[in-house]
Amino acid sequence: MTTATATSVSLAVRDVHLAFGRHQVLRGADLEVARGGTACVIGPSGSGKSTLLRTINRLIEPDRGDVLLDGRSVLGDDPDALRQRIGMVFQQFNLFPHMTVLRNLTLALRKLKKLPEDEAVQVARAQLDLVGLAHKADVRPAQLSGGQQQRVAIARALALRPQVMLFDEATSALDPELVKGVLAVMADLAAAGMTMVVVTHEMGFAREVADTVAFMDAGVVLEAGPPAAVFEAPEHPRLRRFLSQVL
Ligand code: ADP
Ligand code: MG
Repeated sequence: MTTATATSVSLAVRDVHLAFGRHQVLRGADLEVARGGTACVIGPSGSGKSTLLRTINRLIEPDRGDVLLDGRSVLGDDPDALRQRIGMVFQQFNLFPHMTVLRNLTLALRKLKKLPEDEAVQVARAQLDLVGLAHKADVRPAQLSGGQQQRVAIARALALRPQVMLFDEATSALDPELVKGVLAVMADLAAAGMTMVVVTHEMGFAREVADTVAFMDAGVVLEAGPPAAVFEAPEHPRLRRFLSQVL
């Protein structure tokens, strides 16, 4: 695994263990993402990728281990405050269906950031513009394509100005022709210096955008390194087998 000095590390997961009842799902998972870096997490279904992401923004509390943001544990933080610093985007968008696109964005800005309405609208419109959806501000999510809905979900997370963004298979629910547009928004974000952890089956994205690719298997990060090393010279037999199935 790559080691980074404490000052250069933005996000670190250290030896995280988690069981659901008697089912041990995370067994000492480690991950480091440098400030402004992108880590792509790959691995078979059920290996604990989503659970790992959820422990990072405290949707789940680990049984053991730590999650550090800029060297400081987040485990004592207020979860609502933490989720403004660590944004998350899910496979199923999770937009509020009964609200307009604009209101999906302004809600959190008003509730969490306590922005007045006019300021929230201004921030929300600017953010929608950045994902190419300013013209969709007044429609409901159901009137958008899946790709557009996912870009709204990304804009909603970004509007809170997070330090880190987590993506959990953000393109897996999309029709194939809509995947590219969402990946392009994510690649732009990475290029702009956002610190990101991206769980994905898009090996092309991982190869091109990630600084670190982490292979998860049975609740641990079995191998991690630059994409060239992980894809071209995988060390672990289980990673080799996984790659032979997906590439
Ligand atoms: P992945 O995202 O890599 O497919 P997950 O993190 O979703 O894997 O799940 C890892 C394992 O944990 C799976 O066996 C799954 O069934 C189990 N699991 C996930 N969430 C829960 C939960 N809330 N309760 C019980 N078991 C869970
Ligand atoms: Mg998952």
